Amino acid sequence: MPTGIKHYPVALHESPVTAEVMEHLPHPSPTERHRLVEHIKRLLTEQNAVLVAHYYVHEDLQRLAEETGGYVSDSLDMARFGHEHPATTLVVAGVRFMGETAKILNPEKRVLMPTLEAECSLDLDCPAEKFIPFCDAHPDREVVVYSNTSAAVKARADWVVTSSIAVKLVEHLHARGRKILWAPDKHLGNYIQRETGADMLIWDGRCVVHEEFKAAAMREFKQQFPEAGILVHPESPAEVIDMADAVGSTSQLIEAARTLPHRLFIVATDNGIFYKMKQAAPGKEFVVAPSGGTGASCRSCGHCPWMAMNDLPSLARTLETGSNEIQVPEEIRVQALRSTQRMLDFSAQLKRKVLGTGTA
Ligand code: SF4
Repeated sequence: MPTGIKHYPVALHESPVTAEVMEHLPHPSPTERHRLVEHIKRLLTEQNAVLVAHYYVHEDLQRLAEETGGYVSDSLDMARFGHEHPATTLVVAGVRFMGETAKILNPEKRVLMPTLEAECSLDLDCPAEKFIPFCDAHPDREVVVYSNTSAAVKARADWVVTSSIAVKLVEHLHARGRKILWAPDKHLGNYIQRETGADMLIWDGRCVVHEEFKAAAMREFKQQFPEAGILVHPESPAEVIDMADAVGSTSQLIEAARTLPHRLFIVATDNGIFYKMKQAAPGKEFVVAPSGGTGASCRSCGHCPWMAMNDLPSLARTLETGSNEIQVPEEIRVQALRSTQRMLDFSAQLKRKVLGTGTA
């Protein structure tokens, strides 16, 4: 049985450097931030809009979503919340595929984003024009794609999954004798393959943040703080995953921070998540896992360069002007809806099965 085969190497694209992105963002004073927050609250109400924010965006936006009846979560729950909420405008603070997912599920709603420049390296590593012929060349495989993909890639897929249900879904397909074509994250694909033993053909994409977490530096860190627990997102390299006390999606890691007995955690995922981890586990401490460092040459400092582009000024501007509206061509949307809806249905089915645990 093939293990973690990579048949389609893709050139690594250049991603922005987080420190440079942040340097170019405006830095409003506390008074100005307060004014912006009040202004955005008014605009959200006037426009019957709700703010849905990912765990990785700046805590100003996470707090604002909470204070205005919006939502902070992982990409699966963001999609679910936006779909069920009665607002006619969804404002998605995150990266582009999250806005596209909202539009796929809610064609009748206006979907705005603080910026349309917020990409994701996994999405960029898996262009539809290369991915579609690759799928066509492997018609015997069920195409399962991570939600961090474009609408066009989702349209070609049989299933969309997030990291919170990826292992369960592949387990489900494997038990039915299905072979899998997985894209785009190679580390997550390899992790799922190890967990399930499924026959998986794995695309060669990676997350610029998680790939930078370093096992050797982590071991040194752990020697200094032997009492620390290690929380790892499965987009990280296998050697880092192997050191974890808990591996899981963002929501699952927050839950692990709450329930594990450790008082200190080394966290191998984007440090934007600390806002919610501190809420879930007050009194506990969190440090970001060692990565490329914060120097000028780093490609990663534990914070996604594209998530960093979301800020209060850009959110206010979007609502003032109605700019940065997400559009998905109808033909692609309808096809992508099929695989995306299957994700939501499968997740709902899982939740029913594990009723009482609250997470799929
Ligand atoms: S942290 Fe990685 S997976 Fe998440 S949006 Fe950024 S590049 Fe994509």
